[in-house]
Amino acid sequence: MPEPVPLPALHASHAGTWLRDVNGATRGCSKGEAIMAAADTPVLLLNAPLVATRLGYPDLSGLDLLELFAFIHPARFCVPTPKGLAHALGLREPESDHNVPELLQKAAGALLETCASLDWAEREGAWSALQSLVRLRWPWAQVLTPHVARPERAEKWLFSRLPEWEEAPDRPPPGQVLIEEPEIEAQLAHLTGAGSERREGQRLYAREVGKVFAPRAKRAAPHLLLAQAGTGIGKTLGYLAPASLWASAARGTVWVSTYTKNLQRQLRGESRRAWPERRADGTQPVVVRKGRENYLCLLNLEDALQGGFGGRAAILAHLVARWAAYSRDGDMIGGDLPGWLGTLFRKRGIAALTDQRGECVYAGCPHYRKCFIERAARASAQADLVIANHALVMINAARGRDHAQRPTRIVFDEGHHVFDAADSTFAAALTGQEAIELRRWIVGPERKNKGRRRGLAARLADVASYDDAGGEAIEAALEAAQALPSDGWLQRLNDGEPYGPLEALLAAVRACTYARDESGGQEAGYGIETEAAGLPGHLIEQAQAARDALAAIRRPLVKLGVRLEAVVEDAPDWLDGQGRARIEGARHSLAWRVDLLQAWEALLDRLGGPADPEFVDWLAVDRSEAREFDVGIHRRWLDPMKPFARVVLEPAHGVMLTSATLCDRGADGDDWQNAIARSGAPHIEVDPLLAHAESPFDYAARAEVLIVTDVKRGDLPALAGAYARLIEAANGGVLGLFTAVRRLRAVHGRIADRLARAGLPLYAQHVDPIDTGTLVDIFRDDPAASLLGTDALRDGVDVPGRSLRCVVMEQVPWPRPDILHRARRAAGGGSAYDDRIIRARLAQAFGRLIRSKDDAGHFVMLSSAFPSRLLGAFPAGTPVIRLTLAEALQRVAAGVSGAEVARESKDRQPS
Ligand code: SF4
Repeated sequence: MPEPVPLPALHASHAGTWLRDVNGATRGCSKGEAIMAAADTPVLLLNAPLVATRLGYPDLSGLDLLELFAFIHPARFCVPTPKGLAHALGLREPESDHNVPELLQKAAGALLETCASLDWAEREGAWSALQSLVRLRWPWAQVLTPHVARPERAEKWLFSRLPEWEEAPDRPPPGQVLIEEPEIEAQLAHLTGAGSERREGQRLYAREVGKVFAPRAKRAAPHLLLAQAGTGIGKTLGYLAPASLWASAARGTVWVSTYTKNLQRQLRGESRRAWPERRADGTQPVVVRKGRENYLCLLNLEDALQGGFGGRAAILAHLVARWAAYSRDGDMIGGDLPGWLGTLFRKRGIAALTDQRGECVYAGCPHYRKCFIERAARASAQADLVIANHALVMINAARGRDHAQRPTRIVFDEGHHVFDAADSTFAAALTGQEAIELRRWIVGPERKNKGRRRGLAARLADVASYDDAGGEAIEAALEAAQALPSDGWLQRLNDGEPYGPLEALLAAVRACTYARDESGGQEAGYGIETEAAGLPGHLIEQAQAARDALAAIRRPLVKLGVRLEAVVEDAPDWLDGQGRARIEGARHSLAWRVDLLQAWEALLDRLGGPADPEFVDWLAVDRSEAREFDVGIHRRWLDPMKPFARVVLEPAHGVMLTSATLCDRGADGDDWQNAIARSGAPHIEVDPLLAHAESPFDYAARAEVLIVTDVKRGDLPALAGAYARLIEAANGGVLGLFTAVRRLRAVHGRIADRLARAGLPLYAQHVDPIDTGTLVDIFRDDPAASLLGTDALRDGVDVPGRSLRCVVMEQVPWPRPDILHRARRAAGGGSAYDDRIIRARLAQAFGRLIRSKDDAGHFVMLSSAFPSRLLGAFPAGTPVIRLTLAEALQRVAAGVSGAEVARESKDRQPS
């Protein structure tokens, strides 16, 4: 048992506050006392921002055990709660809040002991990092110094420690092979393992999926399969079986695209059954690939370590450098960097270390050969299976750098999200924030910003000096880009002093939106919007001037692209392989900016003319709690599956969309017609194959839908009371879903203390300073905990077992009646369109409840006005009962009792 560290320790929960002194005495204390104690002397605490929120004192600081954990065990998982920390360190869980400060002292002792141990796996680099952290006055540095021995030999610095990626020749196009059904069945049996139960639904499903991999019969007409796969049929192995056979026989790459990180994690695990971690030659057959903004950019990190970051952000940079040396793949968002690390430092430190703005200098970067992003891109080109997300697959198909790497065999799992992902991918928005990003990319940062961010001229200085025409094009682009908004643009709009044609346009957009908005959002502090129709004359004139200014930027960029191509084709002596790669990279990002400018010009062009029925355009002022943060003009496709079909489906050979909720279930059963329309198939005139595998779960015996009829809409105290009593009745394990953040916060504020005192911790998105992924980890880890949240939790929570036994929705999840929704509703059948959206949301929320065959629980709807036509959202046979809150509490407290419920429901289920 480790020696407790003789430092005071502080713990605060919604139930109270506890202090432990250096002599080992723990006592409850007031919030004021705790704040004073922490100000007097550094105290041990766990998750300082969370403790600060609990104490209502944002400036709280101390010795945060999570920071120490991140230093000593970088890239290791730890749930950031007392219990989670105890598990991670092999200590006994604290039995109550009162015992937590003692645990903190012991945990600190255990971590310091690790430093002295010969088995410390992450020792390399610690001493050097600590020297920098001492200079930065990291609170832990003084405590740690006596425990971290100076190494005998100089330690390898991160940038020399990371391995270089290898260049490999392009894979030849995949072979045209046919996968026979018996082979698929045999592979499935192999993957599921000897002795596993034979699931008929899964076998049929796998055979259907096999058809997607057959050779294509006609150009621009891929095999397309829409497969509704009920929860629990084992769909992951169902598609990995044929996918792995095809990848091996054809020597090609299959992309599996997901919407949530959860599923990516699960797929990474399940793919191990079909592929080894490494091939004999050391390459990876399975690669997780994400958008570049997810990965650590080593050049940004180097800048941050060398003075680009100051204060706490610099400490974060050093902890990230520790992690980078041990990370599996450099993925900062949802990878092995603890999700809580960024929130401990409160600022946007993590985002600033990624390549958010496409400023990568490719082969011009000294770390290019070790770059995590380049490594992932190269690895995926050689992989049998690439696990990606919908947005990345679409972006890669639309503007992937390398044509040979574009996905051609794609499984879209969580396929019900493809529409939304296409909607954002193919959207255009000319806003102040977007335009200022473009300015920075061309001109470089404005003076007061530190760091290496450089403009086009600096990035292509060698081309400019070698090729006169290229140099002139850069000059012309720089000059024209002065028309774009610059720092302080929002303030100038506010003051009525816009500068340049784009700011003038944005000022007019803002004024027009305020003048015409009738949504009520103005008073409530939300964003506001208005249709791009019947616009005032001066706005249209400003739009034309802005369009001309954008065209003046685009023209030299197009010319520069041509010059770069010429330089690469007729390469001068000084252009080595790296220089060529850098210019190729620049050409790629130029093409992307030219497309962006063209889209903006088209958007402005149409403002004065007739509406284009393919698009929905509107003006908006984005606000959060009455603070404006962006202004602009937005354009969405009325049907985003049209560009999806052209960009993703047409060039592909085999595509499948699968999900438990692909198909709506209305009064007439499964609505395949709508599922087909939302797949993009009609735009390429392909008749998709359809498949349906029913869930094997016994919903009739394992779940109940309770519609509570006596909690009045708009009665906040009643709503909060209902949540508290349901959580008490279930003894925790409740996932509470809200449609408005305001109501979520109000409910949480009213009930969190009361529940905490009963030993039922309540966490909440938008309240606790913890990222969503970590909140779900905490919820999963503690069966007494409950979690409140909004949309992201409706679909991103996979918590099998006791930790989730009741889902409570506060009201029917109506779609927000904004301009885009209104247009799609009119085109999609009016109220039937709304009903489909609501049923899909309900089905997703219900889907959180039963994740395995042993799960059981209640789905509670706190809405008396719940129309029967929405009941198709729930799996057939699930008992639905309308009842009072008191009755619901009884049922929740009793738990779902199986057959008895199923019998009773026959009488009570509405027709
Ligand atoms: S190659 Fe690009 S993304 Fe990679 S480290 Fe260098 S600048 Fe960053």
